[in-house]
Amino acid sequence: MKQTAIISKAEFLVGVVDENKFPDFKLPEIAFIGRSNVGKSSLINNIVMRKKLAKISSTPGKTKEINFFKVENKWLLIDMPGLGYATIGKLQREKWTALNYAYMQNRKNLKFVCVLIDSRHNPMHTDIAIIEFLENIGRKYLIILTKCDKISAASILERKQQLENLVAYCKNCIEVLPYSLVSGLGRNELIGIIKNNTVM
Ligand code: GDP
Repeated sequence: MKQTAIISKAEFLVGVVDENKFPDFKLPEIAFIGRSNVGKSSLINNIVMRKKLAKISSTPGKTKEINFFKVENKWLLIDMPGLGYATIGKLQREKWTALNYAYMQNRKNLKFVCVLIDSRHNPMHTDIAIIEFLENIGRKYLIILTKCDKISAASILERKQQLENLVAYCKNCIEVLPYSLVSGLGRNELIGIIKNNTVM
């Protein structure tokens, strides 16, 4: 049987709402971004094997801060506010987007960004906009296909191929990683990628 990577220590550090107030923790950072309800909080909880480290939102779009979590005293996981949720006001949405983009553009210790896309759906314009932005600023990213237990093995392969075709001429995509917190698909691979990319 496949060994499951154990994480023994994980803690919430701080939530930031202002781009001028990002603290410097002097640790490598990995950020998670994606549309509301894509499974971002669940995935962060799944990596660290805690049920409630990152809140699982019953109200989509609820996370309003960029949240910093410290793992094993070695790296930080960064939970970024929900993107593209239609029912919040335009102004608020623009504010969140600006905060996210400022973080991704300026953060020195940010090693790569995980762009989460629901494996059941075609990527949406907000997903493609993030990928384009990351390419333009030369930031490395990993595309994670969430909730893969909800589709067949053939559909997982099809979606993976679709995303690989999308980034075929891109320079900064690490890979397209299918993930499921129900089956455990992708978790060990993700932890391996984090470990490989967080050497300071
Ligand atoms: P967020 O808004 O992106 O933080 O999304 P959440 O983490 O709150 O997840 C939204 C919903 O999707 C929750 O009901 C989760 O339980 C569910 N979910 C997340 N990941 C998976 C997965 O891998 N498989 C299944 N079946 N459900 C998932």
